[in-house]
Amino acid sequence: MMERVLDNCIFCKIAAKQIPAKLAYEDEELLAFHDINPAAPVHLLIVPKKHIASLADCAPEDAGLIGRMSLLAPKLAAEHGCGFTRDADGAPAGGFKTQFHVGPDGGQEVYHLHMHVLGGPRPWRAQR
Ligand code: 5GP
Ligand code: ZN
Repeated sequence: MMERVLDNCIFCKIAAKQIPAKLAYEDEELLAFHDINPAAPVHLLIVPKKHIASLADCAPEDAGLIGRMSLLAPKLAAEHGCGFTRDADGAPAGGFKTQFHVGPDGGQEVYHLHMHVLGGPRPWRAQR
């Protein structure tokens, strides 16, 4: 379901397998791969295969897509050793951070919607 692919978009090119990336997940709609410049021991990017420039460009019909990106994050985090768990006493343990950067003031550099999933032993390099 590659509805719209932009020639000059790096994440469209990754989704189209025109440039390589270290993949962590793929289905018909979504792709996840390791960030080329990781800011944490685990740094994944979850992207839709169809081109949407940013979270602010999502339409009401993209609600399901955004929901599925969000539901994939804890699954991938767990697979990469930074899942959210509870210890034997029921206290929360582990975990990860998700981020959408939106626009210049949000630190967005790549204008193809993506969710950052960051985790692993701290300290992490500060995010923009
Ligand atoms: P933004 O600031 O737009 O939210 O983050 C874009 C992210 O994409 C950055 O963390 C950057 O390191 C990553 N990135 C940019 N180009 C590539 C690429 O060609 N391959 C991969 N795997 N990550 C990229
Ligand atoms: Zn794109």
